[in-house]
Amino acid sequence: MRHVAIVGSGPAGYYTAETLQKADDIAIDMIDRLPVPYGLIRTGVAPDHQSIKAVSRRYEGVALTDNVRFVGHVAVGTDVTIDELVGLYDAVVLATGAPNDRPLDIAGADLPGVIGSAAFVGWYNGHPDFAALDPPLGAAGVAVIGNGNVALDVARILAKTPQEFAGSDIVAHARDQLAASAVRHIHILGRRGPHQIAMTPKELGELGHLDRASPRVDPADLPPEGDDALLEPGMRKSVTHLRSFAANPVAKPVTIDFDFFAMPVAIEGEGKVQRVVVERTTLDDELRSVPTGETYAVDAGLVISCIGYQTPPIPGVPYEHGRGRFANDEGRILPGLYCVGWARRGPSGTIGTNKPDGIRIAEMVLEDVGRGAGKAGRPGLDALLASRGVTPVTFADWRRIEAAEVAAALDGNPREKFTSVEAMLAAIGR
Ligand code: NAP
Repeated sequence: MRHVAIVGSGPAGYYTAETLQKADDIAIDMIDRLPVPYGLIRTGVAPDHQSIKAVSRRYEGVALTDNVRFVGHVAVGTDVTIDELVGLYDAVVLATGAPNDRPLDIAGADLPGVIGSAAFVGWYNGHPDFAALDPPLGAAGVAVIGNGNVALDVARILAKTPQEFAGSDIVAHARDQLAASAVRHIHILGRRGPHQIAMTPKELGELGHLDRASPRVDPADLPPEGDDALLEPGMRKSVTHLRSFAANPVAKPVTIDFDFFAMPVAIEGEGKVQRVVVERTTLDDELRSVPTGETYAVDAGLVISCIGYQTPPIPGVPYEHGRGRFANDEGRILPGLYCVGWARRGPSGTIGTNKPDGIRIAEMVLEDVGRGAGKAGRPGLDALLASRGVTPVTFADWRRIEAAEVAAALDGNPREKFTSVEAMLAAIGR
């Protein structure tokens, strides 16, 4: 028997488990610090993107196979160490994602009202770590920093009416606070131009169909139309959306302005954020942003930085600080220790990108561990956790938590999520 532990039960973890579980004589434990599985699917993917979230049914199929076990509410680093896991299992795969924000390194970034997208996204998605965030939504202006899909998610969620959240699983506290929001002007600040965005066409196109909000692009920021021919097809489609926003300005009560060539250089305010100082940029030959010295201010009572994520380091595990991920050679970190998904590659790619990654790492693990080294595996972990008074949440427990969430759903919504670990545990009588 070979024993594999996967730390993290998000997409990368499940795609790895999906391939591993097809092998003979294997037992796979998926350890998660939360009592609920699915990682980014539950707490990262936007609540109004239910078709993307539906992939969790596929992961459920993996979780319900005989040789896969969910070990929830067990924190690696606190309840069990990486060294202990490596001692117990033939292979340990870190699928811990990249849940920390890349720091916004400008003056004033520590003012109240400046938050990272991990916190804001976690807040509207019911991540227990961010349920108490209480983002300031009382001012008309919001600055969203970054030109990726997360910036789009954040702007769209801020702009939607309560009715537009029908059928979503946005949590009650976010639904209520957004319904009372005074936000009217959302600025998406990109330090480069329309041809350098990291936004995909479907997500960008959605901004053109919001009930009370309209996207605005300054035609002067767009490169000559002929230049679009040089773009790869997806990017060309995205830029076509931007051209359409520029050509067809629509007057709706909420505006979403794309500020291109706009680099935030300082955040100012008396005791809380009131404005972002933005420096206009131009591009150099290598398409990097270059400051021009010309600045302007964007009024904002809330600044959300969507500039990418980092994997939290784990003591003793080699780490690449510049790239915010574990130091690894194609997924191998140290003998018996692997990483997959964002923890391996850094925070790029969609949910589906993790599938080939998971398959590759699983195949590598199977090749490396052979028939196994007679390690203790599951029974060893169970004994260790029991000796520490730690009772894991099982997949059957999770299904009871999920049933309670589904039962609490409002009309048309798939579920009403619990937003604290205590409430999740209470649902299973703990
Ligand atoms: P991202 O795609 O890497 O975009 C980060 C953005 O932040 C870039 O526009 C980058 O600009 C900008 N940026 C970085 N540092 C900055 C700084 N110091 N000042 C100003 N701007 C800065 O990251 P993301 O939006 O967090 O998304 C992460 C991954 O998740 C992506 O692969 C994304 O496609 C995926 N995702 C997908 C979906 C979906 O499919 N619906 C939804 C959400 C996220 P430069 O280009 O100039 O560096």
